[in-house]
Amino acid sequence: MTHQNECKRCGTCCEKGGPALHTQDLPLIENGFLSFEKLITIRKGELAHDPVSNSIEPVKTELLKISGIKDSWACIFYDKTRNGCTIYDHRPLACKILKCWDTDEILELAGKDLLSRLDIVKEDNPLRERIIEHEELFPCPDLKSISRTGSRSSKKTIKKLERISNKDLAYRIRAIDEFNLSVSQELFCFGRPLFQLLTPLGFTTRETSSGIKLGFSHVRSSSSK
Ligand code: SF4
Ligand code: SF4
Repeated sequence: MTHQNECKRCGTCCEKGGPALHTQDLPLIENGFLSFEKLITIRKGELAHDPVSNSIEPVKTELLKISGIKDSWACIFYDKTRNGCTIYDHRPLACKILKCWDTDEILELAGKDLLSRLDIVKEDNPLRERIIEHEELFPCPDLKSISRTGSRSSKKTIKKLERISNKDLAYRIRAIDEFNLSVSQELFCFGRPLFQLLTPLGFTTRETSSGIKLGFSHVRSSSSK
């Protein structure tokens, strides 16, 4: 069997997910090769795969990632029909240095020099104030601890998360109206809504006329709070 020593451009890494952006990628944004709509914010505290520990951990620092195609994480710039990157000449640093056969360089970069929303939304942009305010009002909760408790979460905890989820949604709706944001712009500005972060942890959501209702398949009785 021959030892791999160059990229076969198979696209497997692109299908697994777009890269996080680093300070070296700032010119791609400033020169218009990457727009806000093509980025999704992973806020501090969200659970994500940590390539260094190879486990799911809360992210320590906010990061901006290239969005996925529809409901997947496959990079939005990956063209499966042509097995290629549609922004190859302007791809981010992490894509340039990724070698699936030798991960030392990419692991060395992981978690360092990450770009955040405030690095690219300038002082004179009124969205900046909303982004800061949203982060102050709705920081990502301790998802790891919520995930550990899982189906043993008390009704009180679920109600609290439900309240925050609905307030988070209401805040987003106001901002969407005020700034005429698309869904992708919203995901860049505020990251994913809280209820979406809870779903992979086993929470169920139901839309009602009075807002989102959160549940869990096996809710602990109120007596065991
Ligand atoms: S780095 Fe590896 S997985 Fe990614 S396109 Fe090249 S050969 Fe495929
Ligand atoms: S930007 Fe291009 S090289 Fe990087 S993950 Fe997306 S499709 Fe692949």
